[in-house]
Amino acid sequence: MMKKLSSLAALGALVYSTDAGRHCDGCAQPQADCVCEQQAEILGDGQVRVRRESKGRGGKTVTVVTGLPLTAAQLKAICGELKKRCGVGGSVKGATIEIQGDQAEAALAWLQQQGYQAKRSGG
Ligand SMILES: [Zn+2]
Repeated sequence: MMKKLSSLAALGALVYSTDAGRHCDGCAQPQADCVCEQQAEILGDGQVRVRRESKGRGGKTVTVVTGLPLTAAQLKAICGELKKRCGVGGSVKGATIEIQGDQAEAALAWLQQQGYQAKRSGG
């Protein structure tokens, strides 16, 4: 719950102290360390591909989504949605989303539902 400010004076003090810190509104980092530009970078090339991968993973299958034309923050959000839908773990590595297990069909269907021209690649 947000604390309700009791007076304009309190509000003024709050704004003043925030300004004095000179933190970025976007990323809450000090201005000098602002990472907004980095975070706004589109990582994927728009050629959305979903594939299964099990090589070099000790026999474990993962579903890999590449090419989403999104920023790191947006990729994280998509990864979260996919994890929720598939009921499994997953992570974002650079421009790539990895979901545990063979979720290629489910991921593909969901991405297409979201309006992405996602295609199956590989096995
Ligand atoms: Zn920033």
